[in-house]
Amino acid sequence: MAKDHIVIFPFMAKGHTIPLIHFAAALSSRNLRITIVTTPGNAPFILQSLPSHSQQQPLDVDLLLLPFPHCPPLPAECESTDQLPSFDLYPLFVGATTLLRQPFERLLHQLMSSDSPPLCLVSDFFLGWTLDICKEVDLPRLVFHGMSTFSMSLCKSLWTHLPHLPVHSEDPFHVPGTPSTLLVTRDVIPDTVLGSVDPLNPATQFLSQLGDSDVNSWGVLVNSFAALDGDDYVRLFESFYQQTNARAWLLGPLSLLSESLQLGESKAASATTTTARGRDDGLDIDEYSSCIEWLNKDNRPPRSVVYVSFGTQAHVSEEQLEEVAHGLEESSYDYIWVVRSEKWSPPTKKGKLNKGKIVRWAPQVEVLKHGATGGFVSHCGWNSVLEGVSAGVPFLAWPMIAEQHLNAKHLVEELGAGLRFESTAADGTSTVVRREEVRDGVRELMGGERGRKARERVVELSEKAKVAVADGGSSRRTLGELIDALRSRPPPQVVLHRT
Ligand code: UDP
Repeated sequence: MAKDHIVIFPFMAKGHTIPLIHFAAALSSRNLRITIVTTPGNAPFILQSLPSHSQQQPLDVDLLLLPFPHCPPLPAECESTDQLPSFDLYPLFVGATTLLRQPFERLLHQLMSSDSPPLCLVSDFFLGWTLDICKEVDLPRLVFHGMSTFSMSLCKSLWTHLPHLPVHSEDPFHVPGTPSTLLVTRDVIPDTVLGSVDPLNPATQFLSQLGDSDVNSWGVLVNSFAALDGDDYVRLFESFYQQTNARAWLLGPLSLLSESLQLGESKAASATTTTARGRDDGLDIDEYSSCIEWLNKDNRPPRSVVYVSFGTQAHVSEEQLEEVAHGLEESSYDYIWVVRSEKWSPPTKKGKLNKGKIVRWAPQVEVLKHGATGGFVSHCGWNSVLEGVSAGVPFLAWPMIAEQHLNAKHLVEELGAGLRFESTAADGTSTVVRREEVRDGVRELMGGERGRKARERVVELSEKAKVAVADGGSSRRTLGELIDALRSRPPPQVVLHRT
């Protein structure tokens, strides 16, 4: 009998793709067949990132490729937002992906009339146009944002109520629908949401269309777990969805879920994954394994190294990089620091860096899981938050763009899992964090009382994450319920023509 089949269409950004790769692996280990739709330029990263810890059972994951539309002034070779020369081109990039509509429509029609038609399409929030195509073929669309329900519910409520909120004041205010104890200030609101007060703004109109597709979808896949995203936020978030019984399916942390399903729980606790990465995607394999060798070197004491990464999207100025370099050195802690900039190089000669290792890409999950790692200076992208929480590593939160400020608020004020800097606001205005602040922040994180408390709290959360993905845990049960719900849907109500 043919296996049940699910099609996944990630947005072309590493932070949006990585969790869906783990979702694909989790489904495959539940005996489903997965097709990932992507573009040729993104295929190597996906293939290299598929978990390699499934020795017992090969992954049943295929890739189908659609050429990325050329859309000047986007550089021709740019097929992922991580490659954009400037964050300002992000809306243009999202707009370019709408040109994939026709080829994707043909592809989905073909799959629907094949011997193994899919049970559903999982597609990114930014690919909102996929909903219409799903409706043509009576296929449920599960939307994926890559955010927590905490941030998503706040954004949706803000988007709805913003014109009536005291958003221009400096004072904290309450967001309708959220618990009465939660207050926010303007500087944590993503600029895309702030822009929504002007309905004539083209970006607002485009996001509003994406929002309509989102809330009319069959359900939402969330990379989080019940103990992290409280019930209040999950319920508020679900209340925006319009289809009967639309549900937020909390299946995270997806990387832990796929690992636990594939290894079996007894091994999962002690395993280290060794995902292979190649050189053709800017990922240097020597650099990759050298991070782990560096951590293993010299009998480093447990929790003595700080890991620093600002993710794959935010632009960090050279002036800021310089301050971070000095602050890290002056903290006297050893560090691994991911610097994406190809232009900047660390100070040499007199001010030579000698405590740390600077790389362009680190095996982040493995670095965080390594016993020598004791703190994470992070931009608070949601994947990074989940990865640090899963590994039980406390944060020095340094949010930069988009919903990272909301994530930092959640992480520090609600969950107590970190300390924070006050730096760039979500509207893009930035203040350079000086070296003394970096130095003192790292020292407090690694050796101070507030760091110790955050570590205690994050270790508890890490245990809860492992319970969520283990047999009987909330995320594992929800995965089973999702598959059952999709299998029990009546077959498509449309006549399909074989092509
Ligand atoms: N990542 C990594 N190595 C790096 C930098 C990032 O493996 O050197 C991964 C990280 O583990 C995470 C993703 O890239 O899974 C970044 O996603 P996140 O949501 O944290 O940030 P964003 O991509 O939105 O900046």
